[in-house]
Amino acid sequence: MDYDVAVIGGGPGGYVAAIKAAQLGGRVALFEKEKLGGTCLNWGCIPTKCLLKTAGLLGEIQEAEVYGILGIDKDALRIDYPKLAARKDALTGSLRVGIEDLVKSNRVDLYREQAILRHPGEIRTSSGMSLRCRSMILATGSEAMIPPIPGLEDAIRAGFAITNREALDMVKLPPSMGIIGGGVIGVELALAYSAMGVSVHIYEAMDSILPPIDKDLSAIIHRRMVKSGVRIHTSSRVTRVQAGAVEFLEDGREMKDLLDLVVVAVGRSPNIKSLLDLGVADGKKVPVNRNLETRVPNVYAVGDCNGSYQLAHVASAEGSCAAKNALGQRQAMSYESVPICIYTLPEIACIGITEEKARKDGIPCKVGKFPLSFNAKSQIENETSGFIKILVSEKYGNILGVHMIGHHVSEMIFGLGVAIQAELTIDDITDVIFPHPSISESILEASMAVLGKPIHS
Ligand code: NAD
Repeated sequence: MDYDVAVIGGGPGGYVAAIKAAQLGGRVALFEKEKLGGTCLNWGCIPTKCLLKTAGLLGEIQEAEVYGILGIDKDALRIDYPKLAARKDALTGSLRVGIEDLVKSNRVDLYREQAILRHPGEIRTSSGMSLRCRSMILATGSEAMIPPIPGLEDAIRAGFAITNREALDMVKLPPSMGIIGGGVIGVELALAYSAMGVSVHIYEAMDSILPPIDKDLSAIIHRRMVKSGVRIHTSSRVTRVQAGAVEFLEDGREMKDLLDLVVVAVGRSPNIKSLLDLGVADGKKVPVNRNLETRVPNVYAVGDCNGSYQLAHVASAEGSCAAKNALGQRQAMSYESVPICIYTLPEIACIGITEEKARKDGIPCKVGKFPLSFNAKSQIENETSGFIKILVSEKYGNILGVHMIGHHVSEMIFGLGVAIQAELTIDDITDVIFPHPSISESILEASMAVLGKPIHS
């Protein structure tokens, strides 16, 4: 046997699985046909956040006078896009080198080529090698879904329509851009590029952007985006894409926008093409149980390809769990406390269920809300439009969900994940001493509001 574990795909699911398996004493091979770090590092989370950092900073500099800073000529402010793109590329490049170093220092054998998978336990490489392994961890990720909109495929061939991947590799910005899909990718890209002077239109089929998110949160982002010049068309169905234009139905009315570029962001499909011979896929994804086992013995699937969550941090947690199982331990995934962060301006961070879901499922709950306009640190940061909402089970007092919108809330959500994992009650949270001044103390205030006894509201 050449390897104990072969991992297919070097994104946040695959490289974490490989390193964890090696740390547990396994002989491990990792196959990556493109760039280590996968979509997240190269064409997703990291480059987008790099662009959004510049967008946010530009907004702050435009408000410099609020902070007592004079001498900024707002009309002269502009973004040097090639320089920003170079920063993004340098940053992703250095993180990629970091992953490669980690893979090597953990003695994982890295194969920079396509793995051809015909039988479980056997891998052929595109360069003609044949390798045997005891277990396989599939981490092949996902690709942008292309909806069957007339003209779209031709527009993609002509380079008029692109996906998030090309949208994050642009060398020059278009004057205008239409984004099909007002989900996480669509909204983050719209915010980044509109700040850079691109005239952005979003076409979203549902009646609000960011559909699964708590409506109170998405309403704030909707207003902020419209204020910053993004044109949002909700309840809109794109009916045709043709070079230079998008036709759509908005509330039943036929409309047409002339555009320089279209970005397709209507969701992502698991990458299963290379896995078909293994017999693990169901036509759409690779179904797994809580131990991440597929229906084929000794073959595990983690991350976007298994169709559970499409989040890098879930992929990494699954990678770690699958590595343990592949090496004889028994661990099941728990998805009760998965944080969701959206890097809008300001940020959104959520965990657990929404108020709408609790109502729909008939779960009796109490809700506490604290507006950040009452919070000193948020006022100092000049970002007061957000709030923190906590849902607590009426019966047991445990936390069912937390929904936050505000400055840097993505850095705060993990604490609530700990609370949910540890099954802490709302009384436990109100006993915690939070730092002052901080945005996080609004969690304490929202918790006290659940009990009907807030101090500062
Ligand atoms: P998504 O599912 O978040 O949003 C797709 C949107 O497109 C939905 O709002 C949907 O209603 C809309 N839509 C679908 N078909 C349409 C059509 N024909 N016309 C108009 N609208 C249409 O998908 P995404 O934004 O492509 O993101 C893909 C995945 O990547 C998501 O699961 C997301 O969680 C993940 N992601 C996460 C982050 C983050 O964690 N910050 C960032 C980017 C992407």
